[in-house]
Amino acid sequence: MSHSILMTLDGERHDPDAPFLCADDLAAVRGDGIFETLLVRGGRARCVALHLERLARSAAMLDLPEPDADAWREVIDVAAKQWTADAPRGAEGLMRLVYSRGRESAGHDASPTAYLTVGPVADRVTAVRRDGVSVVTLDRGYSIVAASSSPWQLLGAKTLSYATNMAALRHATAQGFDDVIYLSAEGAVLEGPRSTVIAVYDKTLVTPPSEVGILPGTTARATFELAEKEGWDTSTRVLRTADLIAADSFWLVSSVTLAARVTALNRYVTPVASNTEQFADLVNRAIGDDTE
Ligand code: PLP
Repeated sequence: MSHSILMTLDGERHDPDAPFLCADDLAAVRGDGIFETLLVRGGRARCVALHLERLARSAAMLDLPEPDADAWREVIDVAAKQWTADAPRGAEGLMRLVYSRGRESAGHDASPTAYLTVGPVADRVTAVRRDGVSVVTLDRGYSIVAASSSPWQLLGAKTLSYATNMAALRHATAQGFDDVIYLSAEGAVLEGPRSTVIAVYDKTLVTPPSEVGILPGTTARATFELAEKEGWDTSTRVLRTADLIAADSFWLVSSVTLAARVTALNRYVTPVASNTEQFADLVNRAIGDDTE
């Protein structure tokens, strides 16, 4: 693969085309680990502090050793600069941090496997930012109380077990949709398989609370922080599909795609609101104002 970077937490750069993981790494055989995905833009990774905070939170939920934030910050910085030097001018990068429980054969002495990769952002991302996405709602099959009643389900941790999310996206594609919004057993709006839902009502932004069993999104958080500074109202509350339809616009936001307007929900075509550009611009500025 051209222009890609593989770096371990000790700062060593590895050949991204050579075999790297041990076959018994618990990332590979159990999906037992966590990850983060960051956008590299303009020579640096964005929202690093928020991603490292969430990495630590996910690690705690999985009883993994606390990640070494200083070491991560350093390799993130080196890899982002390297990407910017190697890649075509101005090309954005997708950086993934991976932190697994280590090798199965090491038993209780296992130490975590920790590395990052940087590669190109998929071509479709430009189109999605510009044109938005059509979305189907899919039942996630559990209640909004499951996060607290069944903590072993790890709802809200960014674990390496994303097979069900990928299956949901394939299911949507097979039905002619671009993306998914999960609903709880009660019909509450949850999240996308790789994004947070934000609804815009005039100058108010609303997103579901993380307590319903969803990942706390870094992009949504950065956006809410900037929005509040700029005089928007923000709130987190349980939303229904009808609340999305009633919004001026609603969005799937995430670190790499940033803001994708939902253009159709279950084939109901959502009208383009006058503040559409304004919201997309807010998200772009929110991830740019990060000053670590
Ligand atoms: N929810 C899920 C399930 C995700 O996988 C992601 C990102 O990949 C998000 C929400 C959005 O999080 P962030 O804005 O930190 O990228």
